[in-house]
Formats: sequence, structure tokens, C-alpha cells
Amino acid sequence: MVENLRAAVVQDDQTGRVLMLGWMDDEALALTRSSGLVHFFSRSRQRLWRKGESSGNVLHVSEVTADCDDDALLVSVHPEGPTCHEGSRSCFASPLWRRILQREREGATDSYVVGQLAAGIAHNARKVGEEAVELVVAALGESDDRVVSEAADLWFHVLLLLRARGLDPDAVYDELRARER
Ligand SMILES: [Zn+2]
Repeated sequence: MVENLRAAVVQDDQTGRVLMLGWMDDEALALTRSSGLVHFFSRSRQRLWRKGESSGNVLHVSEVTADCDDDALLVSVHPEGPTCHEGSRSCFASPLWRRILQREREGATDSYVVGQLAAGIAHNARKVGEEAVELVVAALGESDDRVVSEAADLWFHVLLLLRARGLDPDAVYDELRARER
């Protein structure tokens, strides 16, 4: 018998980034509080589970706060590894980043992303250099459309470079946010 099923918004305690949304019944909430690791109630599997029980990517609890009418929870955490089962830090990662991870997972031999990642970090780094030069050239003498197109190429290849290094674009956003302070 599932009691008091509440939506639980999980947020990174350092950056404030929303990582995922899960559901907690009374038991999941009690276990989350007592163990210090986030537990959910899975509505599809109709059972309690500990986040990271199969992936190892657990969420360490810093604080759990209920909302004004006690039907939603804000769970502040320190995440270990990527929170999303698709490999990104957040389930709310940008669609472009999620598509890159998806292409990589599917591993189709005719995929541009797969080919770029397979070519290795030196290739990815050189590609970023080339795209940066193309953007510079466009910025200094070509149309706005060309500048946008080259900026998109550079942006995309920077994401591939991050992926090749095992980094997540959220780390870059965190760095930029830290500089605003
Ligand atoms: Zn996810």
C-alpha cells in the first residue's frame, strides 16, 4: 500500500541545478532521511528503489524540504556520477547534449557523432581549432547567417570535445555561474 505519494524535485546542493524528478511515498521518504541516500517509489514498477542501486550513481542527501501543502518535496543532494540514466548530469540536460549521448549509445557506424568520438581526442581538439578559425573568418567579413552557422559548428564540436574528455556541459555552466559571483 503506497501512502502519501509526493513528487520529489532533486536539486544539486552546490549549483542549484534541477537534476531529476522522482516520486516518494512515506517509506521512500523515511529511508531517504535515515540512510542519507535518495530513495524513490517507482510508479511503473510499483516498488521502492534506491537511486543508483544498479548504476552506482547514488544521490547523497543534504536536505529535504516539503512544500507549503506537503504534497511535493525539494531534495537537495550531492550527486555521485551522472544522475540521468542516459549519462548526463541532469535529466533536464539540453536536447542537443542528450542527442549526442543517444547517438553515442546507439553506435551507428554512419553517425557523424560516433565517427567523431571514435577518431579520438586529438582529432576532436583539432576540429574545435578549425571551427574556431572558421567562425573568426565569418565574423570579420561574412553574413550574419554564416556567423550563426559557424558558431553552431563550433558549439557542437565543443560539446563533442567535452564528451571525448568525459566531461558534461553542466560543468561549464557551473564555472560560468561561479564567475558571476
Ligand atoms: Zn534521466
